[in-house]
Amino acid sequence: MDRTGRGKYWAMSHPHRVAIVGAGHVGATCAYALLLSGLTPEIVLIDKNHRRAEGEAMDLIHAVPFYDPVRIWAGGYDDVAGAAVVVIAAGGNQAPGETRLQLLARNAAVFRDVVPRVVQRNPGGLLLVATNPVDVLTYASVRLSELSPSRVIGSGTILDTARFRALLSRHFGVEARSVHAYIVGEHGDSEVPVWSLATIGGMHLAEYQAATGQTLDGEVKAEIFEKTRRAAYHIIERKGATYYAVAAGVVRILRAILRDESTVLTVSSLVSRYYGIDGVCLSLPCIVNRSGVARVLHPPLEGGEIEALQRSAAVLREAQHALDA
Ligand code: NAD
Repeated sequence: MDRTGRGKYWAMSHPHRVAIVGAGHVGATCAYALLLSGLTPEIVLIDKNHRRAEGEAMDLIHAVPFYDPVRIWAGGYDDVAGAAVVVIAAGGNQAPGETRLQLLARNAAVFRDVVPRVVQRNPGGLLLVATNPVDVLTYASVRLSELSPSRVIGSGTILDTARFRALLSRHFGVEARSVHAYIVGEHGDSEVPVWSLATIGGMHLAEYQAATGQTLDGEVKAEIFEKTRRAAYHIIERKGATYYAVAAGVVRILRAILRDESTVLTVSSLVSRYYGIDGVCLSLPCIVNRSGVARVLHPPLEGGEIEALQRSAAVLREAQHALDA
């Protein structure tokens, strides 16, 4: 039982409904990717700009005849009642010249508006946060919702991990799903590549290089990580926003939840008792299923990785304090 003292997922009246709050680039693209996935029969879009949500819903509805039946509509907060998951993609991006803390203040105000309205009507569902800064807003959602922290999930570094695997995949000529490698910590500048646990075919990268004769020197490693870490900046410079890959990541998390898969994904959740990190929302490999984050895994890291993760946690803790102040 969570701290609201109410609801378990099997008490949901719409156990397959997904509600998306924020029907902008990210929210609408999540709805589109979800429509294509066939994972859910009901998608409701909610936005303070209701006409935008209506326009997106109308456009999406016209795609449905090409896929499995899905009911899609622009709704209000009453429609989140009984939903399995409420995705929150409401709020803005960093404007030119705006600091991260200013963005945090702006989007935290959005969350103070959205989260209580969602939880009041849907105390038995899960929250899936995509808005940036995603880790701090996941923490804000835990606080504002008073749900059990395991039921509040941030998309976290699922996208960074995908980018990292894609670059390693290209370097070694092995399909990305066969590359096991994680980005942990903040979804942002202080994120950490866990090189020591990266494997291909059960071999650590050094063993894989010895076995195949391929090399991955320090310079290439640095370049791969830098391209991973800076990817969003490069995309935003060119097209103003990112939304396809994050939507694919959100739908991957939704699949793990709705199909009760117990998949290991790097998502953001409240982390405690891990290398001195306590009470901070950040990404680690987690087992995700119908109950939310069923378990946060605590993989053994190497010295430099531990220090980098502790620095990332310190950055996030400071932002959490700014939020609490
Ligand atoms: P957008 O401006 O296109 O859409 C934001 C939407 O939120 C708008 O439709 C707006 O009307 C709505 N909104 C604002 N305040 C609201 C409120 N109080 N209630 C309901 N709706 C409200 O922005 P976007 O490009 O879709 O980005 C949304 C967020 O997702 C940003 O914070 C962005 O940084 C983040 N993002 C996260 C990731 C990730 O990996 N987690 C990746 C890309 C973008």
